[in-house]
Amino acid sequence: MPSKPNAASRLVFLAFLLVISAAAANDDAAARRTMEQFAGFPASDDGEGPSSDFHVDSEGLQRQIDELASFSDSPAPSVTRVLYTDKDVQARRYIKGIMNQLGLVVREDAVGNIFGRWEGSEPGLGAVATGSHVDAIPFSGKFDGVVGVLGALEAISLLKRSAFLPKRSLEVIMFTSEEPTRFGISCLGSRLMAGIEELAQSLRKVVDNQNVSFLDAAESAGYKLNLEDLHSVFLKTDKYSAFIELHIEQGPILEKEGIPIGIVTAIAAPASLKVDFEGNGGHAGAVLMPARNDAGLAAAELALAVEKHVLESGSIDTVGTVGILQLHPGAINSIPSKSHLEIDVRDIDEKRRNDVIEKIRQSAAHISKNRGVELSEFKIINQDPPALSDKSVVDAMEFAAKQLNLAYKKMISRAYHDSLFMARGAF
Ligand SMILES: [Zn+2]
Repeated sequence: MPSKPNAASRLVFLAFLLVISAAAANDDAAARRTMEQFAGFPASDDGEGPSSDFHVDSEGLQRQIDELASFSDSPAPSVTRVLYTDKDVQARRYIKGIMNQLGLVVREDAVGNIFGRWEGSEPGLGAVATGSHVDAIPFSGKFDGVVGVLGALEAISLLKRSAFLPKRSLEVIMFTSEEPTRFGISCLGSRLMAGIEELAQSLRKVVDNQNVSFLDAAESAGYKLNLEDLHSVFLKTDKYSAFIELHIEQGPILEKEGIPIGIVTAIAAPASLKVDFEGNGGHAGAVLMPARNDAGLAAAELALAVEKHVLESGSIDTVGTVGILQLHPGAINSIPSKSHLEIDVRDIDEKRRNDVIEKIRQSAAHISKNRGVELSEFKIINQDPPALSDKSVVDAMEFAAKQLNLAYKKMISRAYHDSLFMARGAF
């Protein structure tokens, strides 16, 4: 999800790396057990603990973040890196280069999700994976997604420098197209990994705003696909034992409260809707009020109904937004003959969210009838289930933060990231 660079994102990002380094450095038996159990990072065989080299190369990491930011179609400090463009291909090459330098086994699936694997001493066990994305919406910041990929690679590098051998294999994943910029599909790579058949079907025919198909765009980036290859991206459920994603907060809470670490306990479930009304239109002067069926007013009324139904849920966790409201023909002296709304509704409780959607549907039908406009479309574009973080992973992160005396806050992620789809498809 898009975000501008800010102080909070840097804070969260640096603090996370400290957690990794000090958690492994701590020789407290309980901390060691916890981290070994959940992260698969056993201490070295001689039991001497980590060497003095065991620290994050924060300067090197910052340099990598800046280098990656230079692969951009807009001038610094902004970053624009859209799926399968030249800059995206350069960024992919850069990430694979680091993975190779670290001695990871690099693999790409059919749509370009990139995996760097460090084989553990018990490779039959499910791997622990971590990662995020490096595509960037136009004029975004340099940390969004990137910290979750380069941060993970630095963590691997750190463990390698310290001569650890993981029991479980560790994998860094760079997901394809977390941002919906080009094809209007967010978390495209991880969604497909989650085995969502409707997505595999729609990728066969989707085009961007230049009328370039997904398959042609992928081919131009070096991913020549046969249609059946899309199914090969689907994950097998026993492949991973855990997935962790480091991401900037993209909300104001941590920065406002001065807390460096947020531990995500649940990811709110997003749903998006498209609604169209159609009326007769007409001249703003010639058609008198009783004779009108104004599609614009129907949309306005529905926008207010969305707010009302969201507030009626009684939970602070229910949110709804009409982010797009378009009127046709869009002239001051013309009664709107068509209106188009796009609505985003989220909650950590799937039933509560779906109840809101049902009320929005009823309101749309009611408004259509009252105003004599046609409800020409009411379409649920996606209706993803929410995800809960596994308690054992949350406990491990909390434990590590406590060991380090770092302030943290358990919180709900109201933006969603690739983790939502890893939760759905990998376990
Ligand atoms: Zn992101």
